[in-house]
Amino acid sequence: MNVASEAHFKGKLMFDEPMSKHTSWRLGGPADCYYVPADLNDLQLYLASLAPEIEILWVGLGSNLLVRDGGIRGQVIAPLNGLRELYANADGGIYAESGVSCAKLAKFCQKQGLGGAEFFAGIPGTVGGALAMNAGAFGGETWNWVESLSLIDRFGQLLTRSADDFEVGYRQVNLPPQQWFAAAEFRFNRSAEDEASKIRQLLQKRNESQPIGQPSCGSVFKNPPGKHAAELIEGAGLKGFCLGNACVSKKHANFIISGAATRASEIEALIKHIQDIVQARYAVRLQTEVRIVGEAA
Ligand SMILES: Cc1cc2nc3c(=O)[nH]c(=O)nc-3n(C[C@H](O)[C@H](O)[C@H](O)COP(=O)(O)OP(=O)(O)OC[C@H]3O[C@@H](n4cnc5c(N)ncnc54)[C@H](O)[C@@H]3O)c2cc1C
Repeated sequence: MNVASEAHFKGKLMFDEPMSKHTSWRLGGPADCYYVPADLNDLQLYLASLAPEIEILWVGLGSNLLVRDGGIRGQVIAPLNGLRELYANADGGIYAESGVSCAKLAKFCQKQGLGGAEFFAGIPGTVGGALAMNAGAFGGETWNWVESLSLIDRFGQLLTRSADDFEVGYRQVNLPPQQWFAAAEFRFNRSAEDEASKIRQLLQKRNESQPIGQPSCGSVFKNPPGKHAAELIEGAGLKGFCLGNACVSKKHANFIISGAATRASEIEALIKHIQDIVQARYAVRLQTEVRIVGEAA
């Protein structure tokens, strides 16, 4: 693959990097090339150096990704720890680069006396991933708070966009091809409430209802209109069901849990099995929220 010499860049370039190190399911084959930019300027230079035919995939914390066992052909861009600028503007807007973790954003906003960002505390992803997924929880949704965005294209050029330029829906956003989120400016509410205690309560609710601490990607399926995917899966008798080394969580039926020996192919087979059984029982085809990428082994 035609990749620019590592010596020219300040970031970290890795070859045949196991994606199991970068996904919350802790599985997936290797990426041909994996780049962690040092900062935004370094990323611009790196993207500009890449041959145009190279496929690019952005990966945040890999908390919504199933990477197949054969891995990823092409280039992974991993902004975590590289695109990490986070600050409040004089007018109260919050600027966050895409590699900032959602938990850090929530904490920062709480310390600024802002309300609305507390739902980010329990989302184990990056700002970039939250923008791409329109991540949400407990009634909060990422794009409710976005004012403007900085996009980067595959030639490393930065483009400024307003939130109104995007069509945003339930766990989906229409990002133009070959462009990615470099940063966003959020506008949250001033709050006189105890935001720290709200965050603690939301995290506690998660702990009570979700298998936190076990490898998963959160909710595997989107909720169909007017229904809860977890209830349909449970109603179809699949709570706790295992196919090979992949299991439906006993605590939350929309979570699939992996173990040390689990392969991505087993997760994918279990996803299809759940879709088939739920469809046979309820005439509803569940759609995946998790993004499935890469090649089969
Ligand atoms: C225990 C657990 C609980 C969860 N709870 C929730 C929840 O309550 N609500 C919820 O919405 N989600 C939840 N998730 C899912 C996941 O955390 C979110 O979807 C999160 O936003 C993904 O962020 P990420 O950085 O990990 O993205 P990744 O998984 O790395 O990537 C997800 C998608 O975003 C794309 N992407 C990543 N960064 C960028 C970028 N900068 N520009 C363009 N595209 C990009 C990727 O290419 C991929 O298509 C949970 C997951 C886990 C493991």
